[in-house]
Order: sequence, then structure tokens, then C-alpha cells
Amino acid sequence: MTQYSDFRSDTVTRPTENMRKAMAAAEVGDDVLGDDPTVQKLESIAADMIGKEAAVYVPSGTMANSIAIKCWTNELDEVIVEERAHLYNMESTHMTFIARVTPRPLSSNRGAMNPEEVERNIRKPSVHIPRTSLICIENTHNNWSGAVVPMENLKAIREIADRHDVKVHFDGARVFNACHATGIPVKEYGKIGDSLMFCLSKGLSAPVGSVLTGPKDFVDYARRIRKALGGGMRQVGVLAAPGIVALTEMVDRLKEDHIRAKKLALTIQDLPGIDLNPDHIDTNIVIFGFKHPEISIPDFLEKLKERGILALATTGERIRFITHKDIDDKNLEKAISGFQEILSR
Ligand SMILES: *Cc1c(COP(=O)(O)O)cnc(C)c1O
Repeated sequence: MTQYSDFRSDTVTRPTENMRKAMAAAEVGDDVLGDDPTVQKLESIAADMIGKEAAVYVPSGTMANSIAIKCWTNELDEVIVEERAHLYNMESTHMTFIARVTPRPLSSNRGAMNPEEVERNIRKPSVHIPRTSLICIENTHNNWSGAVVPMENLKAIREIADRHDVKVHFDGARVFNACHATGIPVKEYGKIGDSLMFCLSKGLSAPVGSVLTGPKDFVDYARRIRKALGGGMRQVGVLAAPGIVALTEMVDRLKEDHIRAKKLALTIQDLPGIDLNPDHIDTNIVIFGFKHPEISIPDFLEKLKERGILALATTGERIRFITHKDIDDKNLEKAISGFQEILSR
């Protein structure tokens, strides 16, 4: 069996030894009835970390985003999103399917929407026009190659939202990556969103789950929506337990992923066919344009696979590499020599 170096996503990580032990030892109860102590512990740690009143554990980041949007909006509303946002492009249209609101996508500078444009697009309702009730932001920004959205931009958007009485939902699937890249404490990001969700199952390496944080009445309502979507789980402490390990033991090592991603970007940037600015690699995601006179994107990915390296094609003739816990220096060297072998001839 080939031992693949798997750069397709930071979701491919296997649970750590401590996570497996925590799963085996987890105290559990029926979480839908409100008595799983391990889930409650995870939710309380998460709420404290982000600086929110409450938190709810959900099966996926997609469910966290869909619940948040449903909670903050009514039918006939409109939601401002960044045009490449994950929750707008990659989550099977839940905005229209579940919340039944329309997205209003805005362009951005690597994930940072222009605050004036955001303000211009906040619409006052009339018989023709929807009410803007929510602005969604994403940080780090997946499809902008893991870009960190600058704090002053986020603060400007928060200020506009307050002035117009509009809520802000923060898709912080990788918010801890943003913290490592900027040195800004996660509570500062917590202040930007009325709600903030983050994934345990990405760089933090837990097998399952995300946490949605916010005010207590919001989280109470979120629990009802979670149940309605089929996300109420019973002795789910066995899954929350590795989530606790993720938050207590795995946050600090994210910086290693950033160093490896930058190294990959710096070493492949000048190879034929690759369109990449290493200055734009802020965190653990390396997305680059690929246009080669002889090698198509599927051919290139196949050649990498033959050498034991997995990556994904993404929109706009681009290829995506993500570093994570299970990519060590050896895996990285393997990828770099793969690139060199295939492209340097
Ligand atoms: C992965 C991701 C999500 C969704 O998480 P899933 O657990 O895969 O549903 C949401 N937002 C961003 C930015 C992501 O990268």
C-alpha cells in the first residue's frame, strides 16, 4: 500500500493518541436531553476561549454556518457574503435551502471586503427590496489561499454593522490559524462576530465536529435548529472528548503548518507552469494557478499521485495544497522533489 503524503485538506488528519484515549475514557450522557458532561465541558471551554456566553457542538462546520444564518435571519432577508466565501460556494446552497434568504456576494481584496461597499449594499426593505440582516465574514479565508483578513478591515465592517443594526457571523473554521499568523488573541476575533464558529476537525485534528459560539439566547435557538436539521446526537461525548484535546493540546502546533506551507510556496514558485506569490501565503493553504504547455491539471495531479502525493484541483485552474499535523518535514520534502521531478525537465 502506498503511504500517501496527503495535502488535499487539513481535514484528513488522524486523531492523536491522546484523542483516542480521551474517546475511550469519555464520560457520556444523552446530549439531546442535555446531560452529556463531556459535551458540556467542550462547549464551556469553547465559549470561554472565544469570549462568548455560550456554545453548541455541531457535527460539521457547514451545519454551524447554516444554523447561524438561519438564526440571524428571516425569510425575505438578504445576507452580504464575500464572493469566494465557503458558506456561499461550498456548502450546497444551505442559505437558500434552509434559511431561505438570498446571498449578496461582494468582491474583495484577498477576503477583505471594502467597508464602503459593504455599507452601500446594506439595503433598507421596501415592497421590492429585501432587508439586509446579516454580514458573513471568513477568516482565515480558505479560497483566498488561507489569507488572513486584516483586523482593521474586520473592525470597520463590525462598526458598519452596528450602525445599521445588522448582525455579523464569523466563519472562523480556521480562526486559530489567523491567531498564529497575526499574534492577535482569539477573543479579539470573537468580538467581531455576533456569532463565531470554528472547526475542530481541520488543523486541530479532531475526528469530527465544529463549535458555534454566541449569546445565550442565540445558542438556545441554535440548539432547536440543530435538532430540526437532524444534528442532535446522543452519547456524543465520545466525539467531544477529542475536541477538548484539540483545544487544549493542538492549537499551538498550527504554526508548524504555516512554516511548511511557506516553504512549499517558496520552493515551487519559479517552476514552469506555476503561478504563485509566496507573499500571499499567510497560513497553511497554498493555492496556485497551474498552466503548463504540456501538462494539464489532471495529468499533473496524476503524476503527483504516482509519487505518493495527493492534492486537489480547485476553481479557476488552480491547485490546492494544505499542510496539517500529518504532514511532517519528510512528507514536505517528498512533495517538493515531486514538483521538481515533474516540472524541471
Ligand atoms: C471547511 C470549512 C467549512 C465547513 O466545514 P465542514 O466541517 O467541512 O462542513 C466552513 N468554512 C470554511 C472556511 C471551511 O474551510
